[in-house]
Amino acid sequence: MKSNKQRRAEIKAHRLARAARVEAQLRVPERQRKVCLRMSGIEQADLEILGRHNNTYGLLPEFYVARPFTCRDCGAEQVWTARQQKWWYEVVHGPIDSRAVRCLACRRARRERLRHAGPGASLLREQSDRLRALGATKPDAQSAAEVEAALQSKWWSLRVVAIQTIARWGGEANLAKLDALVAAGREAGRRYFCWERVAADAARSALIRRE
Ligand SMILES: [Zn+2]
Repeated sequence: MKSNKQRRAEIKAHRLARAARVEAQLRVPERQRKVCLRMSGIEQADLEILGRHNNTYGLLPEFYVARPFTCRDCGAEQVWTARQQKWWYEVVHGPIDSRAVRCLACRRARRERLRHAGPGASLLREQSDRLRALGATKPDAQSAAEVEAALQSKWWSLRVVAIQTIARWGGEANLAKLDALVAAGREAGRRYFCWERVAADAARSALIRRE
């Protein structure tokens, strides 16, 4: 039989041990803490980055936690991971109250639909066909100017066709232009989805097709 005194001592020891554990957890280095959080599906938010891109009076999140959602288009059960959220808010600078609403496949399908539909679609098709036709002819000042203008188009797909046309024309100056695009893409590095990288990919494959 334990005496009350013994029992109190045990409880006290227990409490001290727990306090020591909590304190040790608090002392875990920052980096290790991040790894722990990540393993539990939590990402720490970078308030500085968020603050720079969000003009909000509302509270910014300190953590991202995986969020389940139902795809708006196909109804699939999905999880928007903490990591994806961090990327969305801090790298892409998505608005702080935007949320994932579609699964990846439906996002892609939608993007594709938007690209091919809408008032610009037939015009875009026409211009792409025209650029391709130009690629089969010998370039002159006018067609070169057209291709140059297409390279500045708001439609990236048209710019890509312009790059292909330049590759089909060939010639030292044109090939140097493509090399420059490839180099610029390399410089853009691993930045997600920028025109420089898309252009570099288009130029690279157009150059390969020539070989
Ligand atoms: Zn879906």
